[in-house]
Amino acid sequence: VTTFKGKTVALFGLGGSGLSTAKALIAGGAQVCAWDDGEAGRLKAVAQGVPLEDLSQSDWSRFSALILTPGVPLTHPEPHWTVPLARAAGVEIIGDIELFCRERAAQTGGSPFIAITGTNGKSTTTALIAHILREAGRDVQLGGNIGVPILDLEPPSDERIHVIECSSFQIDLTPSLNPTIGILINLTPDHIDRHGTMENYAAVKERLVAGAEVALVGVDDAYTHAIGARLAANAREGQRVVPVSGARALDWGFYAEKGEVYFREQGHPPEEAELLGVLTGARALRGAHNAQNAAFAAAAGWECGLEDEEIARGLQSYPGLPHRMEEVGRIERALFVNDSKATNADAAEKALASFADIYWIIGGKPKEGGIEPLRGYFSRIRKAYLIGAASDDFARTLEGALPYEHCETLDVATFRAACDALAGDAAEPIVLLSPACASYDQFPNFEARGDAFRKHVQGLPTKLSARG
Ligand code: ADP
Repeated sequence: VTTFKGKTVALFGLGGSGLSTAKALIAGGAQVCAWDDGEAGRLKAVAQGVPLEDLSQSDWSRFSALILTPGVPLTHPEPHWTVPLARAAGVEIIGDIELFCRERAAQTGGSPFIAITGTNGKSTTTALIAHILREAGRDVQLGGNIGVPILDLEPPSDERIHVIECSSFQIDLTPSLNPTIGILINLTPDHIDRHGTMENYAAVKERLVAGAEVALVGVDDAYTHAIGARLAANAREGQRVVPVSGARALDWGFYAEKGEVYFREQGHPPEEAELLGVLTGARALRGAHNAQNAAFAAAAGWECGLEDEEIARGLQSYPGLPHRMEEVGRIERALFVNDSKATNADAAEKALASFADIYWIIGGKPKEGGIEPLRGYFSRIRKAYLIGAASDDFARTLEGALPYEHCETLDVATFRAACDALAGDAAEPIVLLSPACASYDQFPNFEARGDAFRKHVQGLPTKLSARG
C-alpha cells in the first residue's frame, strides 16, 4: 500500500495481521516503527525484517498515523496506551482495512467490495457469498476477520470482488469504510464489552452500512430494524437501502421463508417475488439461523448481477465452514457433526434446534448460565456425554431430565455416544459435539477440539470392530 509512501508511521500489534500490514507498508515505501507488548511478536517482526521501536519512548510528532491491531482496545474498558499518545500528538489511528480502502480509492474507480458485519453469522455469510460468486466464475478474494488478513490478498481491481468480514473493532479503525455492498446481518447485546454500551456497539456497526452504495440491512431484530429505517429515511443520492429477513416474507427486499429465498421488488405484488434458491437439501445451511445467512448471501449475489440459477446452485453446493455444524463422518445410519465453535449455550441452541435424535457431547470450561437455557431442547436429545471441567455442573442440570454419562475426555465420549447411537432405534441418529463451553480446560482452542473430534470419528470403525 502506497498511502504512506515517504512517511513514517507507528504500528502497534505484531500478530498475523499486524505483521502483514507492516510488510505491506514497507513494500509501499513507508517507514514503519513497530512495537508489541509481547516479546513473541517483536521477535517475529525482527525475523521478518520489520524495524522495532519502543513507542512509549518515541517522538510522536514524526508519525503520520498509528496503525493499530484490532486486538487491542481503542476505547473500552480503557484505551491501549498507544492511543492517548497518538491522540495527544494529533496522529490518526487506523487499521489495515482502512489502508485497503485508501488503496482501493487511489488505484481503482471503486472496485467491487463487499463488507460483512453483524453479531452472529459473519463468517458463514462471508464464506457463503465468496462460494456463490466463485462458483459463478467470478474472481473473488476472501478475508479480513475470517482467514487471510486483507493486505495479504490480491490487490483491488475492477474485475475482482473483495469479500471481507469486519468485526466491530475493525470498523472502528476504518473511517473511510465505503463498500460497494455493505451487510449488517443482526445485532444482539453481545460483545459490548469492548464498546461500553449497546448504543456504541450499534453505532459502530451502523457505519459499515451507512457508507455503502448498497446497504443490505437485517430486519429480524429491533436494533438492525431501526438502523435500516433510519438509513432508508436519510439515503444519499444513489444509495440503496434494502431490507433482508431470514424469517418472514417482506413487502419488498430479500427474504427466506419456509426454506426458499426470494427477492421482491418495491411496489410489486407478492406473486411476482423472484425465487433465488431453495435451502432444502443444502446440507451446510441447516437451521433458521442459516436461513438468515443464506438470505444475505443470495442478496449479495443478486446485487452482483448473478442469475437466479447461479445463486441457487451456490447455495446448494456450499460446503460449510469447519467446526460449525460440520458433518465429519457417517457410520451406518449415524451422522457425526462437529459444532466445536459453539462455545456458549446460545450457539449450541442453534445446533440442537437443527437436529433430532441427538447424542450430545457437551462440556469443557463452563460459562455463566451453563446449559440451563437449553432445557427446552432436551426432548430432541437421546442422551448427553459429559467431558471436562463443566461435567458436575451440567450433570446437576441434566439430573432427572435426560440420561447422561460422565466421560471425562472427548475420545471416550465419542466412542460411548457412537455405541449408543448405533444400538438405538433412531433412523438417523446424530452424534453431536456442540459443547456449550470454551475448550481451554482440555484444548488450546475450539479448532483443536473440533479437529480432535474429527480424528476420533475417523478412528471409530477400527475401535468399534475391535469391540466386536
Ligand atoms: P461469526 O463469524 O459472527 O462468529 P459464524 O458464522 O462463525 O459467526 O457462526 C458462529 C456460530 O453462531 C454458529 O455456529 C451458530 O451457532 C451461530 N450463528 C450463525 N449464524 C447465525 C445467525 N444468523 N444468527 C444467530 N446465530 C448464528
